Amino acid sequence: MRKGKQTYHCSFCGRDKAETLMLIAGINAHICEVCVEQAHDIIQEELYGRKRTGEETTAAAGGIKREKNDFLLPTNITPREIKSHLDKYVIGQDDAKKVLSVAVYNHYKRLNQTVTDEVEIEKSNIVLVGRTGTGKTLLAKTIAKFLNVPFAIVDATVFTEAGYVGEDVESILSRLLQVCDYNVAAAERGIVYIDEIDKIARKSDNPSITRDVSGEGVQQALLKMLEGTDVNVPPQGGRKHPEQKMVKVNTENILFICGGAFDGIEKVIARRVNTQVIGYKSVDAEPIDKENLLQYITHQDIKTFGLIPELVGRMPVLTYLEPLDLEAMKRILMEPRNSLIKQYEKLFALEGIKLVFEEDAIEFIAAKALEFNLGARGLRSICEAIMTDAMFELPSQKEIKHFVIDGAYANEKLSRSKLAALKAA
Ligand code: ADP
Repeated sequence: MRKGKQTYHCSFCGRDKAETLMLIAGINAHICEVCVEQAHDIIQEELYGRKRTGEETTAAAGGIKREKNDFLLPTNITPREIKSHLDKYVIGQDDAKKVLSVAVYNHYKRLNQTVTDEVEIEKSNIVLVGRTGTGKTLLAKTIAKFLNVPFAIVDATVFTEAGYVGEDVESILSRLLQVCDYNVAAAERGIVYIDEIDKIARKSDNPSITRDVSGEGVQQALLKMLEGTDVNVPPQGGRKHPEQKMVKVNTENILFICGGAFDGIEKVIARRVNTQVIGYKSVDAEPIDKENLLQYITHQDIKTFGLIPELVGRMPVLTYLEPLDLEAMKRILMEPRNSLIKQYEKLFALEGIKLVFEEDAIEFIAAKALEFNLGARGLRSICEAIMTDAMFELPSQKEIKHFVIDGAYANEKLSRSKLAALKAA
């Protein structure tokens, strides 16, 4: 217990007395009104089976941890097992999967270590560089699900420097708290995926930007959070305001995975690789694969791109995702555990209809997705455009028990859809 007039805190959530409406003193501890309410809710739920409503849950955003049913951290999972799990859901991207599996394994090993000596394992936040729709978010999501830790996706572009319109970076943690029902202990071991990290790069080559509202200021704000610190989080997200009660979250053990397309970074890599080649020409150096320069990406490149060195330093693990080719698109349609084709087959099976996709239909959809240039994200809208008529008509045609989608059918349906018009425009 802390002594002194100004230093009473809630022993559960850590709020300062000034931040609470009421602080009740015990023999060796204090508890605030929010934690009392939350403790009450937990008793109701655990002992009497009464579920809290969403509203009540939010109101009770205190610091009480439920010891039972907490998110358990895996202790005996190997990097190889993490990767083989990823293989079930994510096609290709072997390098990224390997690097991620090791980083995540080390991260949780660091969390589980109990011995404290002078060798401190540093946090291994991760940057994923790769075009849109190549699986960055999917990788992060799949890992979090596998580890059964809370997971939140946030978009870096909505954040602004304190004082400007937009969200404070602290609201990243509000999302994480929301997904785990305000269980602070669980949130503190979660994974956050920050999308479009490249969009907050400093735009040094644009002199017209005088106030860098969404650039360097946001990077600065992210620094501490990524490194590990206590953050006062507005439970509802958005902007902080003086009367709002805060929840204290420590970010030391939260794993941040940042992703971005870093459009144009190939040029930065090419420039660096070329100068290096001129610098010292090694006879047995491997020839450079100019088609896929992303594989040579280094921290230096993302710094040159416009991320400030301090932020780059807080993300020690860097890996890349390959652009998807026709073969990869076809596999994505068919192979993952919950692939689109498997989902449609199941939907139709529920109607008692056997749905068959012919090889040329798969080829057609994959080729169209490449044309649309949205990565695998394009696959879903193309499939929907092709399948909508069948999904609309077949439930009222009970006699049809077998339905075949071939290339010609797919082509016809897609060419009549709004999607085709969009592409033509
Ligand atoms: P981004 O790289 O932009 O974060 P996402 O991971 O959100 O892309 O991918 C968008 C969608 O495309 C996902 O829902 C997923 O179904 C699919 N997808 C993208 N890449 C792959 C991949 N390598 N393997 C399987 N599905 C993928």
